[in-house]
Amino acid sequence: RRLPSGDNVERAHEVECVYIPETDRGTLCVSSQVGCTLNCSFCHTGTQRLVRNLTAGEIVGQVMVARDRLNDWADREDGTRRVTNIVMMGMGEPLYNFDAVRDALLIVGDNEGIGISRRRITLSTSGVVPNIVRAGDEIGVMLAISLHAVRDELRNELVPLNRKYPIKELLQACRDYPGASNARRITFEYVMLKGVNDSLDDAKLLVKLLKGIHAKINLIPFNPWPGTAYECSDWDQIEKFSEYIFNAGYSSPVRTPRGRDILAACGQLKSETEKLSARERQALRAMAMTD
Ligand code: SF4
Repeated sequence: RRLPSGDNVERAHEVECVYIPETDRGTLCVSSQVGCTLNCSFCHTGTQRLVRNLTAGEIVGQVMVARDRLNDWADREDGTRRVTNIVMMGMGEPLYNFDAVRDALLIVGDNEGIGISRRRITLSTSGVVPNIVRAGDEIGVMLAISLHAVRDELRNELVPLNRKYPIKELLQACRDYPGASNARRITFEYVMLKGVNDSLDDAKLLVKLLKGIHAKINLIPFNPWPGTAYECSDWDQIEKFSEYIFNAGYSSPVRTPRGRDILAACGQLKSETEKLSARERQALRAMAMTD
């Protein structure tokens, strides 16, 4: 942050991190960049241009600020903590800020640092293939892939990085991910978009593609944001999709939407200063009323 000098005042850059409390754990979703270069078409962050990479200190700082705000520097009476899990799923593509993300996660996972087990830290990528195996070697945390489509044609549209690293190459990098096993499965995130990627044919192809990979599939009901053309799949379609995958032997939990009303749910993050124009606030209120 630069301090005001004369008339030339530069605004501080902002990122968001989100704390998701659950009964048996508390997950902190952390950002790696201010904005994002990748423009995934279903993601609100993708509509904010990349301002800059965060430093390792700013990434670790998000965990420290959360612990401060939650008064979470010591075990509570029952021996638990509030922040038990970290997911690098906030704003930005972590593998496009590799060195800072690596240094930050090594500090967060080190007993002399923040001391959160690497098995409780998940790095999510939209598929920067050359850095996936490197992440396994140099960081050694759990891996999540933003897959969202099973055909290149559609994935090119939803996750444009797919044009550079198509599904086949991405899945090969997952097969090669060091340390993946049944106990350390790779999570595949799949946002459920009505009439776009939610058919049973998609579910069948998904199962086929993941054959031989230690995988679980996280189904994410789409979280709408002002201006998006996508809609969330109907609930019974999400259940059918999930059931097919489950019957094929994969864990397929449906992520409970949290924080939609304040644009803090998955795929909705954007810096507060950029987020809410008056028109967007109006659209958000209308969405909250129909949600
Ligand atoms: S889904 Fe991730 S990689 Fe894609 S635009 Fe959003 S923040 Fe960037």
